[in-house]
Formats: sequence, structure tokens, C-alpha cells
Amino acid sequence: MPKPDLILLALDESSILSLMDRVLRAVKYETATARDVQSLGKILKESTPGLLLIGERFDGHEGLKIAVELQERFPTLPFLLYTEKPKIDLIKGLFRLGLSGYLSPPLKTDEIVDAVETGLRNAHRVGDWLRREVNRTTASLQKRAQLSEAERTRLETVFNNIHDSVMILNPENLIILANPSMCRAFGINGAMAIGKPVLDVISHPDLLTLITRAQTNDPYQYHEVSFPDGRVGNAQFTAIHGVGYALTMQDITYLKEVDRIRTEFVHTVSHDLRSPLTSVIGYSELVERAGPLNENQKEFVSRIQDSIQHITSLINDLLDLGSIEAGMDTRREFVQLEGILRYTIDMLQGQIKSKQLIVHTDIASALPALRANPIRLRQVLDNVVGNAIKYSYPNGEIQIAIHSEENQVILQVADHGPGIPISDQPHIFDKFYRATNISSDVEGSGLGLAIVKNIVENHQGRIWVESTLDRGSSFFIVLPVSAEPVPAKKRY
Ligand code: ADP
Repeated sequence: MPKPDLILLALDESSILSLMDRVLRAVKYETATARDVQSLGKILKESTPGLLLIGERFDGHEGLKIAVELQERFPTLPFLLYTEKPKIDLIKGLFRLGLSGYLSPPLKTDEIVDAVETGLRNAHRVGDWLRREVNRTTASLQKRAQLSEAERTRLETVFNNIHDSVMILNPENLIILANPSMCRAFGINGAMAIGKPVLDVISHPDLLTLITRAQTNDPYQYHEVSFPDGRVGNAQFTAIHGVGYALTMQDITYLKEVDRIRTEFVHTVSHDLRSPLTSVIGYSELVERAGPLNENQKEFVSRIQDSIQHITSLINDLLDLGSIEAGMDTRREFVQLEGILRYTIDMLQGQIKSKQLIVHTDIASALPALRANPIRLRQVLDNVVGNAIKYSYPNGEIQIAIHSEENQVILQVADHGPGIPISDQPHIFDKFYRATNISSDVEGSGLGLAIVKNIVENHQGRIWVESTLDRGSSFFIVLPVSAEPVPAKKRY
């Protein structure tokens, strides 16, 4: 059987108090009587009454005020007020405060019981609703907490087991996270590093260069990172909106090794092919001298010679590229770029004429001399100007400009040819790459710009292209006035 509700009576000693006490007990309620404010507080602390019936005046205080204060502490406890004279203002205030009701003389037994029962019933309803809400909210919070904990554990596991190195920085470059792979690669103590400035924690020069360079406007940067034990990483520094930066690095040692083996192989094969080709050219020239040839035979021999010339120049390009990549381009002397350009244009005059092109040159006066390898610079100009001629439409125009700016000499070669599709532009400096809009009938191996880029970078310069499809292309080459050769490994 459920325990009967406890009704707490806070009324001054009077016949009303004993009447109420008697009536409520008679209908199986438990009652407790508070004689003063102090004992009222004590009872409320020690027991859990189902309803509080308080006099309009109690222990010299206003009952309504006491009820309001208690409501703060016991928001679900129903209150009834006993008043001798139920004045309209008092009743209004009572309902405004959310009290359950009031009792006033003449008191009838069933009215007392009714008022108490109604108060209790409402309180039970509110109590049930509250309990249900609390249970529901608690269950949903528990579920959410479990989910976010599971999610966090899963992300942490992924982050810690990722093979690539990952470090997250806040916008002030303080380390927020660093995975074990990153800590291993750079000898970082993960726990100690959190919250520290990345530049205090990382001392690897390649990575420092990447981070400091990335603080410029470029939102995405990468850099090769060489380790003393021969490993090579490809590190990226990426700005993440709302977080800061992500520093990631993949191990590309095996790719570098494959590239090295491939280059070595091509170099060896090219080298070994050169001698037999020289013999083939020599003998093909002797054929004519060995005896008279008919017209057909002459043509075949001439075709053989053309093809061998083609293969020979390809092989020469490959060998050239190999030696530049190996860091063998170390010759340096003072060179005037405009002088080299003159030689290039002279040499290409035949092609310019046969396509009826107009070449405009705009050479600034008093250009500084460059510390450079003149043979290699000639190769650069031959290739870039040669391309402008090769890819220009007949009767087209080519602009070549040279000027200097802050210890740099800048060359621009612009044509009005077919242009280069945007998707091809990042690759045209790769070996053997030819843009997709160029017909395979156009002669070329795709090696010229790879050689040019290597030479330019070996002179600590930069090359890039700006091109619009069907409008034309502009190649820019910036060379520092004085620069020492760059060791092969350090180029990026
Ligand atoms: P190729 O021997 O094919 O000319 P390059 O390495 O010199 O090789 O150039 C690579 C590719 O870049 C070319 O195949 C061509 O698609 C593109 N390219 C280079 N220069 C120009 C240019 N001036 N106009 C249009 N496309 C060009």
C-alpha cells in the first residue's frame, strides 16, 4: 500500500488548526504541524510533505511571503493558504504566484478535504510530468554523450594510426594536435608539444621554410623534406577556415627512388644508343658514295637520315636533362641575355620567315649582366622562342621583352597561337608532357620545357606560363642577376 501523503500545517495555535488536523487524519492523511517558522524549515528539511497549508499570518509573518520564498526551494510543492477574510487582492496575488488555492471560514469538512485533494492531484500530475521529462532528457543526454564519446574515440584512433604525419595548428601557430607519425618523423614529444608555438618545436629547415613561406597569402603550399637517413617527405601546409592550419606529410622515399632508377635507366639507355646511332648516320651517308642510287633509294636513305636526326636530338635532350638534374651545370660567367636572344632569333630566322611571322622585341636599355651558363641560357631561349614560333599560326606576331627589376632580369615571350588548356598548364614543364590541344603531327618530344625549367631553377630563377585557349601564351622567366648553382638535391 502506498504511503499516505504528509500534509504540513503551518498555522498558529487555534481551533482551526486542530479542526484541520483532525479532518485530514480522519481521511487517512498524515499530518505534521509547524509551530513557528524555524520548525517549518526543519520539517521541510527532514521530510517530504505532499502539501503545505499555511496561514495568512503565521508566527508573526505574512504567510504569502513565506510561501513565495519556499516556492523557490520546492517548486513542485503545492501550497494552500488559510485566510480569515479572502480579500480580492489577496486572492489575485495568490493565483498570480501559482498557489494551489485557499481555504476560509466557514470551514466544512468536505471543503477542506476537497481543497487538499485537488492540490495534491495537480502536484502529482506536475510531478509525474517532471519525472518523465527528466528521464527522457537524461536518457537522450546519456545517448548523446555515448555517441560523441564513441565518435571521439573513433577519430582519435584514425588520427593516431594514420600512416601520414599530421599536425593541426591554431591561427596563432600553436600546436593543437600532432599524431604519432608526425612525432616520430621529427622527434617530437607529443604531450609536451601541445600548446607550444610550432616554430619552437620543429627545427627541420625544410619544414621551417614551408611554414614561414606559407604564412604569405598562398593558402596551399608544399615542400619536399629531406631527412639525413635518405628518407624524403612531401609536406603540405594548408589553411583550414575556422581552425587554423594543417601540416601534413607523406613519405615519398619510394617514389623518389623509382624516379631516380627511371632517370638512371633512361640516361644509360640514351648513352648506349648514341654510339650505334652515330654509326648508322655515318653508314647512311656512305651509302650514297658507295654507288649510284636510283630516285627511290635516295628518298629512302634521306628518310632514314631524318629519323635518325630526330632520335639523336631526343637522346641529346635526355642526356642533357640527366646532367642538369645531376647538378652538373656549374659553369658561371657574366652574360648579357639580350645578346643571347639575338643569336637565337638569328638562328630561328628560317622558321620565322617560312611562317611569315613578325617578331617584335622590346629590350630595356642598360640591362645588368647575369652570372649564368651562356650555353644553357641559349638552350632556354631556343626552346621558349622556338615554341612560340612552332605553335604560332602563319602570319602571326610574337612579342619578346626583356627588362630588369630589383636585381632580376625578366624575359617575356608572348605569342597568339592556340594557347594551353588550363588543365594542362601545371604539367607542361614535366618530361614528355604535351598539351591535349596539340595535334600529334606537330613535331616535338615534350622535353624542351622540362630542360628549360631545370636550367632556370639551377640558376635560382623561376618560370611560369600565362595562357588563354585560342588566344595565345606568355612565358615568363625571372633570373636573379647573380646566383650560384643550386645543388641538385635542394631544388624544389
Ligand atoms: P614540345 O617538344 O612538345 O614542344 P615542350 O616541352 O617544349 O615540348 O612543350 C611542352 C608542351 O607545352 C607542348 O607540347 C605544348 O603542348 C605546350 N606548349 C609549349 N609552348 C607553347 C606555346 N607557345 N603555345 C602553345 N602551347 C605550348
